[in-house]
Amino acid sequence: MTLELKDYIATIPDYPEKGVIFRDISPLMADGTAYRQATNEIVQYAREKNVEMIVGPEARGFIVGCPVAYQLGIGFAPARKKGKLPNETISATYNLEYGTAELQLQKLAIKPGQRVLVTDDLLATGGTISATIEMVERLGGIVVGTAFIIELTELKGREKIKDYDMLSLIKY
Ligand code: 5GP
Repeated sequence: MTLELKDYIATIPDYPEKGVIFRDISPLMADGTAYRQATNEIVQYAREKNVEMIVGPEARGFIVGCPVAYQLGIGFAPARKKGKLPNETISATYNLEYGTAELQLQKLAIKPGQRVLVTDDLLATGGTISATIEMVERLGGIVVGTAFIIELTELKGREKIKDYDMLSLIKY
C-alpha cells in the first residue's frame, strides 16, 4: 500500500513568525511506514542517478539524507552552520529574508569526480540548497541530483536550481 505522504505533513500557521505557514515533517518522521516510504522513493532516485555520496544541510537535510545513505551503503557529509565543523572547511553564504547565513563543508567531504545527491526536507527560495551545491562543486563533486520531501512551488526555488535534476515528493 502506498501512503499519501501529504497526509503526514503538519501545517503550522504563524511559525516561526507571523504570516509564515510552516510545513512540518515531524508527523512523517514519527510514522515508520511514511518515513520509510519517503526514504525509499529517494533511494530509488539516487540509484537511478548512480549516486556515490550524499550531502545535506543542517539540520533537516540530515534527517532526509542519512537514511538514504545508509540504505545505499554510501557516505553522507553534513553541510553545517558556521563554526560547527572541525578541520579544514569551505564556506558559502546565502541570503535570508533578513540578512545572510553561512554554511560550511569539510574539504575532505567530497572526492573530485564523485557523483553527489544533495538533500533537504524542503525547497523554498532555493538559497540553502544553492549554497550547498556551490560547495560540493568547489570541491570537485558532480551534483547529479537534488531531492526534497517538500517543494513550496510559489517560491520558485526550482528555477534557482534549474540546471540540476530534482525530485520533490510533495508539492504545495
Ligand atoms: P530556502 O533556502 O529554499 O528558502 O529554504 C529552505 C530551508 O529552510 C530548508 O533548509 C528548510 O529546512 C527551511 N524551511 C523553510 N521553510 C520551511 C518550512 O515551511 N518547513 C520546513 N520544514 N522547513 C522550512
